Amino acid sequence: MTALFDAIVVGVGGMGSAACWELARRGLRVLGLEQYELVHNRGSSHGQTRIIRTAYAEGPEYVPLVQRAFEKWYDLEQFTGRHLLTECACLNVGPPESAHIRGVRNSVLQHQLVAEELHGTAITTRFPAFRFPAEWVGILEQAAGFLLVEECVRAQILAAEELGAEIHPNEPVHQWKVVGHGVEVTTHRGSYQAAQLVVTAGAWATRLLADLGVPLRVMRQVLAWFGVRSQAARFRRDRFPIFIADVADGPFYGLPAIDQTGLKVARHYNAPELDSPDAVNWTPTAEDERPIREFLDRFLPGVGPLTQAQVCMYTLTPDHHFVIDQHPAYPPVWVACGFSGHGFKFAPTVGEILADGVERGRSRYDIRLFSARRFA
Ligand SMILES: Cc1cc2nc3c(=O)[nH]c(=O)nc-3n(C[C@H](O)[C@H](O)[C@H](O)COP(=O)(O)OP(=O)(O)OC[C@H]3O[C@@H](n4cnc5c(N)ncnc54)[C@H](O)[C@@H]3O)c2cc1C
Repeated sequence: MTALFDAIVVGVGGMGSAACWELARRGLRVLGLEQYELVHNRGSSHGQTRIIRTAYAEGPEYVPLVQRAFEKWYDLEQFTGRHLLTECACLNVGPPESAHIRGVRNSVLQHQLVAEELHGTAITTRFPAFRFPAEWVGILEQAAGFLLVEECVRAQILAAEELGAEIHPNEPVHQWKVVGHGVEVTTHRGSYQAAQLVVTAGAWATRLLADLGVPLRVMRQVLAWFGVRSQAARFRRDRFPIFIADVADGPFYGLPAIDQTGLKVARHYNAPELDSPDAVNWTPTAEDERPIREFLDRFLPGVGPLTQAQVCMYTLTPDHHFVIDQHPAYPPVWVACGFSGHGFKFAPTVGEILADGVERGRSRYDIRLFSARRFA
């Protein structure tokens, strides 16, 4: 078999576009195949913004990866001349014993990160919009910010194309197989050969990776924006941080108002686990707004009416850690999936890990936490 490409990337969303960019940057011949139009809103990488933060509650192993991601996002800004990342403090807040607060502290300690603890009324003194209970703890870190998510995906695609990658929208991959030392991928247009395959298919990953042995589940998530017109100054970046609040019925998070759409607030997890993306209802309902409004009434009083809502998908692993690995049964195949609702910030680092895999069969980073074999 003559391989026409060094690598084919299946799924050009957040992670696939990063892989295409990094592979092309290294001079490899890359083909990216995306089932929908490029930068669409039917996967996991849409909805205006994504949080990037360093004091990582989900595990100290993630800290070096996010530190590298900051560098790569800035590189991408320079390469494309587009604004992608806005630095903004992140307030982690909750009862002192909350798992989130303990996780943030652990990363701060292990990596000697700079963070400030706020107790009692100090949170409201610093950020007047909040009304959290006085016994809660706030951990404020400055090494955080938000990414313009659609712009980031677009920039990764543009950079990849400028560096020679070929990217086909509206071309779903029906199947792939290992042929000799390479792979063959089939779409409605025909088949393509490559030395290696990278599968970054988000919520659809199990369709292409049935025998990977990773039990992925899909979770519908709703993003909501609320008007702040009468008191807009309170909710802008200079007076209002990104926040993650670990309340009794699950974490809620929010980002400052960056335009007329207003303050963005959402609930993290806490929705039924679904078998596939086909089961997702893409229309936001009044019932979706209710828990967010209750959260606002309690902790952020005075926020105006809902201005907009959008549906998005998480792809969950059982332990909520990512899967980034060489396919255990097929060495020419690398997979990155199961980002469990916190992957976007890492996209350019994931691109590097995948490109390392394609180029030299292993990553320069410690990715044991993301092993596909851990569910066996
Ligand atoms: C509401 C919400 C809020 C979030 N907030 C944050 C946050 O603040 N910070 C953070 O870091 N992360 C956050 N995340 C998580 C993050 O956005 C995801 O982890 C990340 O976007 C996943 O990227 P992906 O490339 O795996 O999936 P996607 O971007 O969905 O890409 C997968 C792509 O594969 C394509 N595809 C699938 N099957 C095929 C096929 N057979 N052929 C061709 N193409 C195919 C799909 O169409 C899609 O474009 C959030 C997610 C959601 C939903």
